[in-house]
Amino acid sequence: MSSIAATAAVDPVKLDKLAQVAIQVGLQLQRGQDLVLTAPVAALPLARRIAEHAYKAGAGLVIPIFSDEEITLSRYRNAPDESFDRAAGWLYEGMAKAFSGNAARLAIAGDNPMLLAAEDPDKVSRANRANSIAYKPALEKITGFDINWNIVSYPSPSWAKQVFPGDPEDVAVGKLADAIFTASRVDLEDPVAAWRDHNAALKARHTWLNEHNFHALHFRGPGTDLTVGLADGHQWKGGASQSKNGITCNPNIPTEEVFTTPHALRVDGYVRSTKPLAHQGTLIENIEMRFEDGRAVEAKASRGEAVLNKVLDTDEGARRLGEVALVPHSSPISKSGLLFFNTLFDENAACHIAMGQCYADCFVGGKTLSPEQIAAQGGNRSLIHIDWMIGSAQIDIDGMHKDGARVPVMRKGEWA
Ligand code: ZN
Ligand code: ZN
Repeated sequence: MSSIAATAAVDPVKLDKLAQVAIQVGLQLQRGQDLVLTAPVAALPLARRIAEHAYKAGAGLVIPIFSDEEITLSRYRNAPDESFDRAAGWLYEGMAKAFSGNAARLAIAGDNPMLLAAEDPDKVSRANRANSIAYKPALEKITGFDINWNIVSYPSPSWAKQVFPGDPEDVAVGKLADAIFTASRVDLEDPVAAWRDHNAALKARHTWLNEHNFHALHFRGPGTDLTVGLADGHQWKGGASQSKNGITCNPNIPTEEVFTTPHALRVDGYVRSTKPLAHQGTLIENIEMRFEDGRAVEAKASRGEAVLNKVLDTDEGARRLGEVALVPHSSPISKSGLLFFNTLFDENAACHIAMGQCYADCFVGGKTLSPEQIAAQGGNRSLIHIDWMIGSAQIDIDGMHKDGARVPVMRKGEWA
């Protein structure tokens, strides 16, 4: 059957190294910690490798929770209407309780990014909303870094077919597997050492940016002349991060970005996207946005413009920025030249900005700031957080101090 051919297309040695990196670098799982593992059923081969590395690292319990695309679609096609306002709050309460007891969290990404593209958009948005509300108690412990957490990816056949539509399934899976392994640095002889070096390089970048404590960044390039004010007391981050339980984890594998919080009221000028944005089954291309006093007052796109503007009307904060991130054009993901339809990869291919919610952790002392304090310092608030790419080999970026002094940050897409 095709799923056996697809599994055979994934190099077992590199898959095992990816599991090792997830446990030893992504989580730094400690002896006695339980692990809550979520994954699509297609990712079972990786889930099993991860469980083995977790137990060898001393895990108390590894508890897998699987999702299945056919079962998800079955709900949309067969469930009664009232099903779409329901969510598994009881499951998420259990997860939150596990995190309060210091369990670690690992998610394997790999779902078909276009799975729900043909389903009733009203049902999709109701189900998303119900799920977001129910998931909040568990999600807050993750985004607040109460515990060590990590996301890695598996080349599921349905995802691979989106990225390589012209290839037979097993060929597509093999190609996506290689792209994931390269981006995750598990094609190297000693991936754990490679991640140590990569984390040190990212730390050097965000330390330099934090020392400069710029008032704003100025992006210039074709179709772009944008000044992004930075929030008061903003902090640049990237790579490894220490969670409140004292463990240093690498939440995203892969990761190439250093990122911080823009000021919600101080973004001005115009900007053009440099890569398509895949948003819930719609491709949005050639975005052009104009900002005044932090607000996107005009948004155009050559494709998907209606969807884009609907997203921007989600709430007041959806038209303002919650993140600005710097990624060199020479990053391995950028070099692959692929569109992954997955933010974990696509946002690491280019400099980007995100509409919507900011990260509390991107403020000095952010873990202890109240939402009101974050807002007062210029942090944005929204139900959405959508990254889109504005970097390329043609973009120059200056750091601007309050007195107008400029420092080159990037030239032609590379660190200056
Ligand atoms: Zn980002
Ligand atoms: Zn983001």
